[in-house]
Amino acid sequence: MKAKKGYLPIFFDLHGARALVVGAGPVAARKIDALLSGGAAVTVVAGDFSPAVEGRAERGELRAIRGEYLQERMEGTDLVFAATSDRALNARVSRDARRRRIPVNVADSPEECTFILPAVVRGEEFTAAISTEGRNPGAARAIREFLDERRAEISVRLERGRRRPRIAARKGTVHIVGAGPGDPDLLTVRALGLIRSADAVIHDYLVPREIVSLAPEKAVKICYARRGRTAGHGAALKQNAIHEAMARLALEGKSVVRLKSGDPLVFGRGGEEAEYLAREGVPFEIVPGITAAAGCAAAANLPLTHRDRSSSVTFLAGHEAGGKEENAVEWNRLPKDGTLAVYMGVAQVDSIRRELLAAGFSKETHFAIVENGTRPGQRVLRGSLRDLSRVAKDSKVRSPAMLYVGRTAAPLFAESDQENRNEPVAQSV
Ligand code: SAH
Repeated sequence: MKAKKGYLPIFFDLHGARALVVGAGPVAARKIDALLSGGAAVTVVAGDFSPAVEGRAERGELRAIRGEYLQERMEGTDLVFAATSDRALNARVSRDARRRRIPVNVADSPEECTFILPAVVRGEEFTAAISTEGRNPGAARAIREFLDERRAEISVRLERGRRRPRIAARKGTVHIVGAGPGDPDLLTVRALGLIRSADAVIHDYLVPREIVSLAPEKAVKICYARRGRTAGHGAALKQNAIHEAMARLALEGKSVVRLKSGDPLVFGRGGEEAEYLAREGVPFEIVPGITAAAGCAAAANLPLTHRDRSSSVTFLAGHEAGGKEENAVEWNRLPKDGTLAVYMGVAQVDSIRRELLAAGFSKETHFAIVENGTRPGQRVLRGSLRDLSRVAKDSKVRSPAMLYVGRTAAPLFAESDQENRNEPVAQSV
């Protein structure tokens, strides 16, 4: 009766192990090759040596004992292989080894093995062992072929799973980093690494505490802007102060992360900051982030483009950020059949609505407002331009919010008032 075996796959370090191989035919030769390539010291006992094994013996790669197998050969052995064509002899070798508690493998006889050799696929960075516990070598081969054919895909997946070399902010450099729309899970891998290693973080008020607190405890944290205090002359002063602080901290040799909500180059003054640093000769790098238009759209199941609804998306500022009095948007030139994604618009919904209607947008055009997109308290409000002002007022919409206009702003599914029932995206990193 066959005893049930409890195989545990193990990668055994052969280096320096003493292996005894009984037999020197083609099957034994394969085992000998594997043992030698693993660094084992191999002794072969056999009456006849096949040319391959003979060659290795002549080159001094193994110790050859010519003649009959005797159980004394087991002395001082860590591992035994029986690979002769004589089944009775193989069985005897197995018994002798087991009695001495030396692990033994018998070719083509799983019952007499205390360990088995899996089929092996070696990649550059991995070794996969495949076993059917000796019962179905064909299946193991099939799996091996399957993996072999997919080597390229496997290496791509390995690349993805690889631990990145540590991403760290550089001393004396300003990293202008997009922090995404608010949910810390929407930071890029690079942003996270840079924040975690920064000596100084200069951030906007829109970047939530959960993200700023990813920086080391001892890092200097500076927030210049306060909500509602960013218009006109004050904003210019503030921007200068930011420029000077970035340059000063970098020149002191600190690694500086200039952390901006969303993407630094979308209504974020990242461009001005880069210009300033370039002028001052301060090394800098720009790291993109998920801009609010994209983050809030995803959070509200709102396709920015859609084959049946819109083939363009325009990012615009409802009012240009502080410092610039005139709104530079040319409302007449906005595409009427695309998606408009309006930043900084909720305080001006009345005038935005007026401009759009004057520019020829129909009152039936859909809008969606996403307030606190991807953050706790996210709300999605929908309607048509006809009632935009009323909805915004009645719902007391507050910044930060994105306003979308166009056919894509209509609910994507029939029952899609589910958005507001969704839990906000988890706040964890
Ligand atoms: N650089 C940023 C935009 C800064 S302007 C980016 O790429 O997203 C600030 C405006 O962004 C806000 O007035 C609001 O319109 C929008 N915004 C930023 N975060 C938001 C959020 N979590 N939800 C809704 N709107 C947001």
